[in-house]
Amino acid sequence: MLLPLSYRRTSQSLAECQLKLLSALIVENFNDDNENDITDEDKFREFKTSPKQIFCSFICQVCKVNLSRYFLCNECKMVSYCKEEHLKIDYLNHKGLCMAIKLIAKRRGSHVYNMAGHLNAIEFRNLRLHTIYLCEQFLNRSLANYEREIFLFPRLCHEVTCREWKSQLLSDCEKCGHVSFCNLHPLNENHKKFCNAFALYQRIILHEKSYGVINVALPQKILKRTPTLCDDVKDTMRLLYKNITAFQDDCINSALMEIATAPLTIFYACQKMGLEFKEQMVIHFVGAEMQFEANKLDKWESIFFHLITEISDLHIVFIGSELNEEKLPVEIISRTRMCKTCRLNYRGIRFDFQCKKFYHDYCNSLSYTKPDIVCFLNPALYRPGYRGFDTWPRTIDAAIKTSSPVLITSLTENECYLDFERIKYLTNDEFEILLPPLKNPYASTRPERNFSTDEDVPLTFKNNFLFAISKIKDLIEF
Ligand SMILES: [Zn+2]
Ligand SMILES: [Zn+2]
Ligand SMILES: [Zn+2]
Ligand SMILES: [Zn+2]
Ligand SMILES: [Zn+2]
Repeated sequence: MLLPLSYRRTSQSLAECQLKLLSALIVENFNDDNENDITDEDKFREFKTSPKQIFCSFICQVCKVNLSRYFLCNECKMVSYCKEEHLKIDYLNHKGLCMAIKLIAKRRGSHVYNMAGHLNAIEFRNLRLHTIYLCEQFLNRSLANYEREIFLFPRLCHEVTCREWKSQLLSDCEKCGHVSFCNLHPLNENHKKFCNAFALYQRIILHEKSYGVINVALPQKILKRTPTLCDDVKDTMRLLYKNITAFQDDCINSALMEIATAPLTIFYACQKMGLEFKEQMVIHFVGAEMQFEANKLDKWESIFFHLITEISDLHIVFIGSELNEEKLPVEIISRTRMCKTCRLNYRGIRFDFQCKKFYHDYCNSLSYTKPDIVCFLNPALYRPGYRGFDTWPRTIDAAIKTSSPVLITSLTENECYLDFERIKYLTNDEFEILLPPLKNPYASTRPERNFSTDEDVPLTFKNNFLFAISKIKDLIEF
């Protein structure tokens, strides 16, 4: 099938329409002699996630259009609308939080971030968290994620010594529409590094607001020989899809890589550290998230299993203190269905969800199965883990004691370095480096806002950097 690829950013609405069309059209048909195609008539049952409700200061809270004129809520001065009417419509919903913000703002002069221009990065981060805390105290409830984002990502002048908040004094970057500046502080070189990513971020969220999550079809090929993954993602995509033109669109590419990054990164890292694939393979995901590693479970079949021909029995264990079985749809837990080709060849994947469990507890439990690889995807080991309790030392100790390769990915180069240092410290430097810290060619290309180090890296990508270690061979107990 030929895809209409006259996709240009002429106007927002046209672009959006075409994107919708493209998303619907990404369907593959194959007749390659060298590969098996999935000929299964039954469709997999899919765990569908709707886009998370998010707050963006440059979007109307009611109709979700990109704002060219800002009708700021005059009470709290934190949320904006496209017209006065929408401000009025939303007020009933916004009222409670608005009152809380107004009260805090009054104590601070006129605006919650009135004095923010005097603060350094750490102080401003703490101020934002403290403001959330105060609001929760006032309302006597936790704020929803999108409500927290009102405080985490406010519309302020980008210059950190300024952080002007008065809407009438601010303009937005013409290209990405996402970063604001006052007339004293025009956008600088530093913004250029992230402007494209911001523009993509904006396109994705505007698209998702209107049409829901961008749906990409998973690949349909079953390879006859395991390929060697190179550093060029495009080459790999050609192995997976006959027609990759659709993925030249940034939005669609980011939707695909968000799904494909987990299986491709593990595959790439295994090959790079010389791990041999055997008939059976067990993968542990530590601190797994329903929204990431365990999202679109079929990807493990179509982007991992179908590429690696040696494996016939794949066992994937998701372990996470924040994984919650009550939130798992039954069809996921019980799903063992494979495509017809796999079934005929007696190949299968088992998923095991170890919910509300720390990794070290799982390792000591009866359900423990020795892994071939232990994966920590974007764990930020350098920060204390679960709800402020630092459980990483025990978790890392347990992972290294498995004597299997331990793969750790991170959002930024700096985090990768910090995680590496943390492991060095926790293990007294007693580990073997299987892969030194490196940029991962199979990182997600979907930008995400970053609150914790937004001064340097306002947008991040999952699995952007990686390294792998294991227990020192001499120390392995037999
Ligand atoms: Zn509106
Ligand atoms: Zn308000
Ligand atoms: Zn300024
Ligand atoms: Zn920009
Ligand atoms: Zn299959």
